[in-house]
Amino acid sequence: MTAEIIDGKKIAAEIQAELKQRIANLQKKGVTPKIVPVLVGEDPASLSYLRGITRTCGEVGVATETAKLPADATQQDLLKKIDELNKDHNVHGILLFLPLPKHLNALEAESAISPAKDVDGTNPISAGKLLLGEETFFPSTPYGVKELLVRSGHSPEGKHVVIVGRSNIVGKPLMGILVQKDKGANATVTVCHTGTKDTAAFTRQADILVAAVGKAKAITADMVREGTVVIDVGVNFIPDPATGKNKQVGDVDFEAVKEKAAAITPVPGGTGAVTSTMLMANTVRAAEAAAGT
Ligand code: NAP
Repeated sequence: MTAEIIDGKKIAAEIQAELKQRIANLQKKGVTPKIVPVLVGEDPASLSYLRGITRTCGEVGVATETAKLPADATQQDLLKKIDELNKDHNVHGILLFLPLPKHLNALEAESAISPAKDVDGTNPISAGKLLLGEETFFPSTPYGVKELLVRSGHSPEGKHVVIVGRSNIVGKPLMGILVQKDKGANATVTVCHTGTKDTAAFTRQADILVAAVGKAKAITADMVREGTVVIDVGVNFIPDPATGKNKQVGDVDFEAVKEKAAAITPVPGGTGAVTSTMLMANTVRAAEAAAGT
C-alpha cells in the first residue's frame, strides 16, 4: 500500500479562502484584523518563523507589525510592550516568540498577554480553558493538526490517536483538543514520551499517529501498523549527500512509512504549511469578537 499524501498547502489554501471572506466582512465594518509578533533578540529559528508569518499575513490580508525588542531588554520592557499591545484597540492578536533570552521569564510574559488576544494560546488561562473544553484559542500547531485530519477526511472521532511527544506547544495541547467531547475530536488519546517504556508497542496500536518528537526519522516503519494515518509535526535539518546542503525532514521515516500508512503528511508541505494559517484563523476570530460579530 502506498499512502495518500495529505497536502498541507492545499488545506491551508482552503482555510485561507474562508478567512478572506470573513476579513472582507470585517472590513465592511472598518476593521482589519491585526497580529503583532513580539520578538526579543534575533533567534534564527524565530526569524525564519517570523518571515513565514509575515508572508501568510500578506496572502490572507491580516495586518502585521513586529514589535522588536533588543536581546538585552529587561522583563519590565517586555511586560510594558505587552501591556501597550493589550490596550491597543487596533491589535487583535499578540504572538510572543520563544525562546526568550535566558534572563527573561517566559511564563510571566505569556501570562501577561490578554486572553482575548492570545492567538497562540500560550497564556496559562488559555491552556487551562483548552483542557476544560471551554472556548479559547488553540495553539496554532495542534490546531493545524486537527484541521488537517478533519479536512482530509480522517476525523479523529472514535479513533485511537497516539501522540509521540508531550511538549507544552504541541503534544499536550493536541491531547487536550482531541480528547474533548467535540465534533472533529472525541478520540481516545495516548501520549508517549521518553518515560514511555515501549513507545513502539503504543504506536503500533494507533489509528492515527502524530509524531512531535524533534528527532529526524524517530518513527520508523516497524513502529507503524498497516493502514495508520500518520501526521508528522517534526521539522529537522539533516545533511543531504546529493546536494551537500542541509535538507528539511520530519520526525517520521517518510519513504519507508508511506508504504504502510493509509495517509501521511509530507515534510515540508504538511503540518508546517498549515500552522501560520491557523494563527491567522485565530486572529480573525479575535477581531470578530472585538467587533462584536
Ligand atoms: P520538544 O519540546 O523537544 O518535545 C519533544 C517531545 O518528544 C518530548 O515530550 C520528549 O519527551 C519526546 N521524545 C523525544 N524523544 C523521544 C523518544 N525517543 N520516544 C518518545 N518520546 C520522545 O519538541 P516540540 O517543540 O514539541 O517539537 C516537536 C517537533 O515539532 C520538532 O521537530 C519541532 O521542530 C517541530 N515543530 C513543528 C511545528 C510546525 O508548525 N510544524 C511547530 C512546532 C514544533 P520528554 O518530554 O520526556 O523529554
